[in-house]
Amino acid sequence: MTNDPNTPSGVPFAVTPDCEKVMAEVDSFLDQELTDALRSSITAHLESCSPCFEVFDFEAELRLVISTKTHTVEFPDTLRIRIEEKLTYLRIEGSGATESGGGGEPRREA
Ligand SMILES: [Zn+2]
Repeated sequence: MTNDPNTPSGVPFAVTPDCEKVMAEVDSFLDQELTDALRSSITAHLESCSPCFEVFDFEAELRLVISTKTHTVEFPDTLRIRIEEKLTYLRIEGSGATESGGGGEPRREA
């Protein structure tokens, strides 16, 4: 039962049916295409589910950048690095692994 060799890709953490529903509505939510009831139910979920909030926050930030750049969606290197870091962070968070070495930790150097 706990043996799941085919974990769904794209969602780097354990999700509940509620999470899947929220994820599916991220775009609509940010486009403000949802009803008030749906919006508030999603908002309530985000307040109690940090993985979903992280994804939502990330999507919202991404959109902000894209909407600011109407002529091009080219990302500056700094943002691309931040996105990669965020995705890595989400994978680490969701895997439940105890081993360290995320790759971003500064090392002690004399
Ligand atoms: Zn969730």
